Amino acid sequence: MKLGIVGLPNVGKSTLFNSLTKAGAESANYPFCTIDPNVGVVPVPDFRLKLLSDLYQSEKLTPATIEFVDIAGLVKGASKGEGLGNQFLANIREVDAIVHVVRCFEDTNVIHVDGSVDPLRDIETINLELIFADLEVLERRIAKTGRGAKNDKALAKELASLEKLKAVLEDGRQAKALEPEDEDEAELIASLNLLTDKPVIYAANVAEDDLADDGASNAHVQAVRKYAAGEGSEVFVICAQIEQEIAELDEEEKKMFLDDLGLKESGLEKLITASYHILGLISYLTAGVQETRAWTITRGTKAPQAAGKIHTDFERGFIRAEVVNYQDLLDCKAYSAAKEKGLVRLEGKDYVVQDGDVILFRFNV
Ligand code: GDP
Repeated sequence: MKLGIVGLPNVGKSTLFNSLTKAGAESANYPFCTIDPNVGVVPVPDFRLKLLSDLYQSEKLTPATIEFVDIAGLVKGASKGEGLGNQFLANIREVDAIVHVVRCFEDTNVIHVDGSVDPLRDIETINLELIFADLEVLERRIAKTGRGAKNDKALAKELASLEKLKAVLEDGRQAKALEPEDEDEAELIASLNLLTDKPVIYAANVAEDDLADDGASNAHVQAVRKYAAGEGSEVFVICAQIEQEIAELDEEEKKMFLDDLGLKESGLEKLITASYHILGLISYLTAGVQETRAWTITRGTKAPQAAGKIHTDFERGFIRAEVVNYQDLLDCKAYSAAKEKGLVRLEGKDYVVQDGDVILFRFNV
């Protein structure tokens, strides 16, 4: 799963990206933290892992991860090839969701590309570029579909959907604003992989002083919240600069620092967790002496496919799953005790795996 960080220059993208990857490298001991300078693998915070690995005295603890991509260079005119425009738009096409950083902090030392702090104007500048890029894709598809549509009912229907979508974009709205009429239309739209169809989280980058009340007294943040509500997107208030400082600290210092600010978790942790959920992802867990680990699946995944995340053999030879809720397991203090109490269930191939299930798979090789 990949999230792309976008935003105008100088809004704090790199600061946020660096603190994300730094925090990732420090906290998880994860071997592939930086794949390339613009891609970072970040562990998903999960308090359950530590508790389980303590119970099992596991040698290793492996969190679920998501990838963040720093997509710099998105500027006004990018869709027309300004800057390195089109190349960056291609990078965004590969991500599952977008984190759109908007500047809500005032600082005369940090120049704004458009001269003043105005998050709504910034959001619209970026969104317009994304819309233009989508229109280009759509126009190409319309031309192609149009050629065959005269003698083909299915293609004619497709063409009508494409034209409808085009009208939405030309109206300055995003692809996700269109409610698909039926399955076919939903599938068609999904197949286009449009930028403005991807889920968005707005990260409102505020000054340190605005953190305590979650940006409530910052008019810029209020404006972003209202805008995001209109399109059904979420807003997260962060201070990229503080996150960068927090990322440098060890666990204990971090806790003290957050306490001082009146916060329970860092903005990054909130952002990562929220991204995970927005993507419809959950984790199941495996626990043992060798390793305690979280595995990422989409909500609704059945047991054999969940097993397939560990190894394709597990899916192919799936017999059954032994499942216990992590809290039940912790309460019983041992797997055997949970089993005696009847809290370990035997589940078959139709079982839909739940967030927080601790699973032992039985399979034929
Ligand atoms: P990018 O171009 O969007 O990647 O922006 P950068 O992350 O490079 O940040 C641009 C400038 O803004 C840098 O000088 C940062 O130190 C500064 N900056 C980033 N976040 C904050 C913030 O939360 N508050 C303040 N005052 N400055 C920030």
